[in-house]
Amino acid sequence: MSLNFSQKTVLSTKELFRQADFDNILKCVHCGLCLDNCPTYRELGDEKDSPRGRLYLMRGLWEGELELESAVIDPLNRCLDCRACESACPSGVPYGELLEKTRGIILENTQQSLKERLLRFLLLKRLFRSTNLLITASWILKIYAASGLPKLITNTFLAKILPQTFVFQQHLLPECSGVSFKRKHADEIIPPLPTGEKHKNTVQICKKRLRVGMFSGCIMDVSESVIHESTLTILRHIGCEVVVPGNQSCCGALHVHSGDRTTAREFALKNIAAFENRHLDAIITNAAGCGAQLQEYHYLFTGATTETQKEGRSATDWKNFENKVIDILEFLSAYPELLASLPWCKDEDTVLYDAPCHLMHAQKVDENPRKLLNSLPGVKLVALTESNWCCGSAGIYNLVQPELSAAVLNRKTESIRQTLVEYPKASTIVTANPGCLYQIRAGIRSNKIDLRILHPVVYLAERLRLNRS
Ligand code: SF4
Ligand code: SF4
Repeated sequence: MSLNFSQKTVLSTKELFRQADFDNILKCVHCGLCLDNCPTYRELGDEKDSPRGRLYLMRGLWEGELELESAVIDPLNRCLDCRACESACPSGVPYGELLEKTRGIILENTQQSLKERLLRFLLLKRLFRSTNLLITASWILKIYAASGLPKLITNTFLAKILPQTFVFQQHLLPECSGVSFKRKHADEIIPPLPTGEKHKNTVQICKKRLRVGMFSGCIMDVSESVIHESTLTILRHIGCEVVVPGNQSCCGALHVHSGDRTTAREFALKNIAAFENRHLDAIITNAAGCGAQLQEYHYLFTGATTETQKEGRSATDWKNFENKVIDILEFLSAYPELLASLPWCKDEDTVLYDAPCHLMHAQKVDENPRKLLNSLPGVKLVALTESNWCCGSAGIYNLVQPELSAAVLNRKTESIRQTLVEYPKASTIVTANPGCLYQIRAGIRSNKIDLRILHPVVYLAERLRLNRS
């Protein structure tokens, strides 16, 4: 990237860092305990590509010692924002928050290439803002998949002669439905499933009927429909009323990760309005990345100086909203008696588990989902040997940093192979984030590993269905 900055720009950048509530950078004591947990440091072996190195760079910008130039920006762009360093840090450095604020300042104060500006405009500013465009894109991809072209590209000689990044992207394609989940169920109050005596039990255990909202996302709203449908089924099975607000929007995580905090703020304000006044006990997410973003909306407004940016929302409004947001697996884990009363299939099965970074390191949810899955009758859950390492998906990282993403994915694929050596009967791997699901599925397919990959909630719904069939 070629950058051209005047002295004035450098000074105003320093001021912007000062305004962005960046003092937490001082928590880093440079101990280096985070280094061995960083996927990019493991791959590249360069201090600049480690959490400590990147924090040095951010601090240099904050103190005005460094300028916004390629040598500083490139290592920051190579970060996956997986936040494994946050879990490893004994000093409580909020690395993700600092990185995302830095990327926001970089975006607002540097010249982007024409290609990047075009991609940002078409994808982040247009596609993810419009449900109609997402439905159209979903139809186009559905027709493309039905044409057989992706299989032709990946399964024939074409795989050898076409660019490898393009071939890999065929494996990455989501299973598009062409239908918007939120429009299909917009604003209905979907009742619990009547299940005879068992239903009466669930209501009694619940004491009162819970009403929950479902967050449907952008890409997920029009693809992998089985994940949302399974989430809905399980929630209704345990006696919840479910509402899917039709006016909700993308969570903005992809925007925040790439520095576009302005669009993310717009989405945050839309989502808080969409879920309020619906008397919800919880807001359920089934995408770890979306859940983490929804739980951290208030960071987008620290340093927001004008009332237009805040739109009259107070810290309490954000706290009330964020406190209701919960991952589906963590939510279900709070009702073990209800789950135990459901008619599960009891067939024996070994299932491999991958922990999405934004579930484990951002939402701090790890043990409960594993306990829940392991408690299913007949199920033995086995965590991958490197379950807690990033898969290299990281939003659109696999599109903008394809080589490094591929290297990180190779480690994940190798860890799957190693786990399979010990547990050859495993037929399924589960992961609770769609981005990880696409990425690991692509890794499995391109390496011809005989394993299916599901969201855990799809696996749960399948165990219920198998018992009935
Ligand atoms: S977020 Fe992940 S890739 Fe980035 S510095 Fe931390 S551990 Fe490394
Ligand atoms: S981020 Fe935390 S673990 Fe890493 S060097 Fe700084 S204080 Fe140490």
